[in-house]
Amino acid sequence: MTAQLIDGNALARQVRAEVAGRVAALKQRGIAPHLSVILVGENPASQVYVRNKVADSQQTGLQATLENYPATLPQAELLARIRALNADARVHGILVQLPLPAHMDAQAVIEAIAPQKDVDGFHVASAGALMVGRPGFRPCTPAGCMRMIDSIGYNLKGKHAVVIGRSNIVGKPMALMLLAQNATVTICHSATPDLAAHTRAADVVVAAVGKRNVLTAGMVKPGALVIDVGMNRDEAGKLCGDVDFAGVSQIAGWITPVPGGVGPMTRAMLLVNTIEAAEAAAA
Ligand code: NAP
Repeated sequence: MTAQLIDGNALARQVRAEVAGRVAALKQRGIAPHLSVILVGENPASQVYVRNKVADSQQTGLQATLENYPATLPQAELLARIRALNADARVHGILVQLPLPAHMDAQAVIEAIAPQKDVDGFHVASAGALMVGRPGFRPCTPAGCMRMIDSIGYNLKGKHAVVIGRSNIVGKPMALMLLAQNATVTICHSATPDLAAHTRAADVVVAAVGKRNVLTAGMVKPGALVIDVGMNRDEAGKLCGDVDFAGVSQIAGWITPVPGGVGPMTRAMLLVNTIEAAEAAAA
C-alpha cells in the first residue's frame, strides 16, 4: 500500500486565506489585530522562527512587531515588558520565543503573559482549559496536527491513537486533543519498554520525539494514519522527521511529510490563535 500524503503546505495556505478574511473583517470594524513577538538573545534557529512568524502574520494582514533583547536582559525587565504588553489594548497576542537564556525561568515568563493573549497556548491556564475541555488557546503544533487529521475527514472516535513523546508543548496536549475527539490514547516516551508493540496496534501514530527513524515500517499497522512532528537533520544535513518516510509510506494509509507537513501547519495555527485573540477582545 502507498500512503496518501497530507500536504501541510497546501492546508496551511487554506488556513492563512481563512485568517486573512477574518483579519479583513476586523479591520473593517477599525480593529487592527496585532501580534507582539519577543526574542531574547541571538539563537540562530530562534531568529529564523521569529522572522517567519512576523512574515506569516504580515502576509495575512495581521500587524506583527518583533522586539529583540540581548541575552543578558534581566528577567525582571522582561516581565515588566510583558506586563506592559498585557495592558496594551492594541496588542492581542504575545509570544515569547523559547528557549530563553539559562538565567531565566521560562515557565515564570510564560505565566506572566495574560491568558487571553497567550497565543502559543503554553500558559498553565491554557493547559488547564485543554485538560478540562474548556475553550482556550491550544498549542499550535498539536492544533495543526488535528487540522491535518480533520482535513482528510478522519473520524477519531473509537480509534486507538499512540502519541510518541510527552512534552508539554507537543506530546501531552496532542494526547488530550485526540482524547477529546474520543480516540483511545496511549502515550509513549523514553521509558516505554516496547514501543513497537504499541505502535503496531495503533490506528493513528503521532511521532513527536526529535530522533530520526523512531518509527519504521515494521512498527506500523497497515493503513494507519501517521503524523510526523519531528524535525531532525539527516547525514546530508537535509531536514527530516522522526518517521522513516520511505518505508512507512509503503504501509501507512496516510502520512505527513517532513518538510511540508506539520511545520507549516504549526505556523498557520499561530495566526489562527492570534485572530481568535483579536476577535475575542473585540467581542
Ligand atoms: P522534547 O521536549 O525533547 O520531547 C521529546 C519526547 O520524546 C520526550 O517526551 C521523550 O521522552 C520522548 N523520547 C525520547 N526518546 C524516545 C524514544 N527513543 N522512544 C520514545 N520516546 C522518546 O521535544 P518536543 O519539543 O516535544 O519536540 C519533539 C520533536 O518535534 C522535535 O524534533 C522538535 O523539533 C519537533 N517539533 C516540531 C514542530 C513543528 O512545527 N514541526 C514543533 C514543535 C516541535 P521523555 O519524556 O521520557 O524524555
